[in-house]
Amino acid sequence: MSKIIDCNKVNPASGCAHVVHGETEEELLRNAAEHAKEHGIVDVTPELMEMIKANIEDEVTA
Ligand SMILES: [Zn+2]
Repeated sequence: MSKIIDCNKVNPASGCAHVVHGETEEELLRNAAEHAKEHGIVDVTPELMEMIKANIEDEVTA
């Protein structure tokens, strides 16, 4: 099952509607780190990684 991260849930202050997709958690986190660069975040800190992981959801394709 694909996994997603809703950028707006990780950082509501961003006002960003981007949703990161990944086939696996590894791919998802890699894509999330790529997307973070668009917010000027070059270093994904352990704290940020925890916030990202806390917002991982299964993609619902019903
Ligand atoms: Zn974003």
